[in-house]
Amino acid sequence: MKSIKLEDIEQISGKQIKGVDRFLFRCRPGLACFNQCCRNLNLFLYPYDVLQLKKALGISADVFLEEYVDVVMRKDNFFPDVLLRMSDDQEHACIFSDASGCRIYKDRPYTCRTFPVEYGLQYPAENRTPELIGFFRPPEFCLGPHEVHEWTLQTWSSDQGATKHQQMSRKWSQVKYLFQKNPWGHEGPQGNRAKMAFMASYNMDAFRGFVFESSLLKRYKVKTDLLKKIQRDDVALMLFGFDWIKLFVWGVPSKKIRLR
Ligand code: SF4
Ligand code: SF4
Repeated sequence: MKSIKLEDIEQISGKQIKGVDRFLFRCRPGLACFNQCCRNLNLFLYPYDVLQLKKALGISADVFLEEYVDVVMRKDNFFPDVLLRMSDDQEHACIFSDASGCRIYKDRPYTCRTFPVEYGLQYPAENRTPELIGFFRPPEFCLGPHEVHEWTLQTWSSDQGATKHQQMSRKWSQVKYLFQKNPWGHEGPQGNRAKMAFMASYNMDAFRGFVFESSLLKRYKVKTDLLKKIQRDDVALMLFGFDWIKLFVWGVPSKKIRLR
């Protein structure tokens, strides 16, 4: 989910959808375009996607990050993005795509669930709650918009099993929004602080070790019941990581964690 400043909104392509606005779309096997959209993509993965995918594949976060993704720093960004790696073949097909569709359909990432709608949070002004906005932008070859099935932003994400992804992505986008400014100083975005923030976002196996085996708990106060929870619950740990990043990098306090 993108974080969008009001002044940038007109630069984003696609039909804007908000609130009760409706759009026509249906994707199904049997359409001539079936599977064509699963290739040659910049497929962004959010922290919750990485958690779900490594669990579905039964591998560690280290292996997933090493073998399945590309980590890229976009121009004018100060936190890297994680993209699902495409295959090396001529079509650059998604590594999970085969003739029958998506091999990980039940666990597919957020972006795939809501395609061809990209969801974003529009930040109207300082200290105001951001508003959910969608950009409907099927590729030219996509036949889905010619099917008669009507959706709103809400019904579409619910139908695609994306509600939880959306909640998690919303929380992540609020962290990511902070990184429109450069917090790294002379260390730059390759320094140790940046590496730790990346770990706390995308690698829950390593972050759990860091929380419980480093001096972190000597420096930060965390409630006992939350500590018990994040020992076994990856999603709770990820959300705790978001709060830790806000405090560690930006000095923004939360109810979950504070300096001792
Ligand atoms: S191109 Fe559009 S309609 Fe065709 S498979 Fe992809 S999303 Fe579905
Ligand atoms: S993860 Fe699945 S739905 Fe997403 S691009 Fe790959 S094959 Fe397509």
